[in-house]
Amino acid sequence: MTHPLLDLAPLTAARFAAVERRVAALLETGNDVVITQGEALLPLEGCIRSGARPGSTALNVVTGPYGQTFGGWLRDCGAEVVDLEVPYDTAVTAAQVAEALAARPEIDFVSLVHAEAATGNTNPVAEIGEAVRAHGALFMLDAVASVAAEPLRTDAWGVDLCVIGAQKAMGGPAGVSAVSVSERAWERFAANPGAPRRSYLSLLDWKQRWIDAGRRALPHAPAQLEMLALEACLDRIEADGLKTVTARHASAAAATRAGAAALGGGLAPYVREARDAAPVATTLRTPAGVDASALVARALAADPGLPLAAGGGALAAEMIRVNHYGPDAAPGTVLSSLTALGAALAETGAPVDLLAARRAATEAWTG
Ligand SMILES: *Cc1c(COP(=O)(O)O)cnc(C)c1O
Repeated sequence: MTHPLLDLAPLTAARFAAVERRVAALLETGNDVVITQGEALLPLEGCIRSGARPGSTALNVVTGPYGQTFGGWLRDCGAEVVDLEVPYDTAVTAAQVAEALAARPEIDFVSLVHAEAATGNTNPVAEIGEAVRAHGALFMLDAVASVAAEPLRTDAWGVDLCVIGAQKAMGGPAGVSAVSVSERAWERFAANPGAPRRSYLSLLDWKQRWIDAGRRALPHAPAQLEMLALEACLDRIEADGLKTVTARHASAAAATRAGAAALGGGLAPYVREARDAAPVATTLRTPAGVDASALVARALAADPGLPLAAGGGALAAEMIRVNHYGPDAAPGTVLSSLTALGAALAETGAPVDLLAARRAATEAWTG
């Protein structure tokens, strides 16, 4: 008995290369794109281990938990690390980055997260990119939570290493990811004796065995189901239009933010300024004395399909995440999420106005 997920013709090199080209178009880059066969932490770690080395100095911008992870890898590689950490309910500014670069002229690597789904903030990459370019450092951007949710202009912003995953706004699987690599990033990797080689983390292996070999034969069996799913994501984004997809995410964020503010009961947007709030997901702060994970559990008990989660780690007590990405960037999902959270909040005795929340969200959606 044949099975549609199991009995597949092999994925050809030509088809794999076509997916790469479409990802390059999505990222607005003319640089090489490598489709990495694993979750996005694979290319993120691969970039850092290839680009950082003893003797290099990295500016690591920390606006949430992923930035913290990068700092650990950079130190692991023997790089000197300057952490620029800002409160997680704000964004970093280009002026802060420029100042940090000016203070340490030897900085040769900058890591930045574009949008953080875990904290709900987004950073002004265009302006930051100008500062990084003026300084001359290699620029790595984690765009996993921003791709397809907001504009992402890899080349125009001077991003040397742009990492994406399919599992957020692209509405795809978590098991495949991609990175675009500029010419000077390849040169830096090649000059680094510590860069991974003959390793699953190695981007240089992909360059040598796939790109430089003319993309004629894949170096090993690809993650075929994930590749087909990524291809389907690109089909859907191209059919809907990237502008339409990013606009849906912007509307979902604006509606969730406005609805939560109108709901009352002490619920408030976690990210203070709307301009710093990521289109991919909206984080909310619970009122004092209301545990966010308990509130989310009550809301999910009423409606288990909603994209609600409590914040990670210490934030679990005070942060709610509304993960309105991919197919969940839809008015119905936002309204149902607000309704479920409002009902759960009302159970604690808080005065909430569900009607006002729904009205504010609807108005903000069409904005
Ligand atoms: C979601 C996300 C990733 C991928 O990590 P997972 O926790 O495995 O989903 C990486 N970087 C950022 C900024 C993300 O938001």
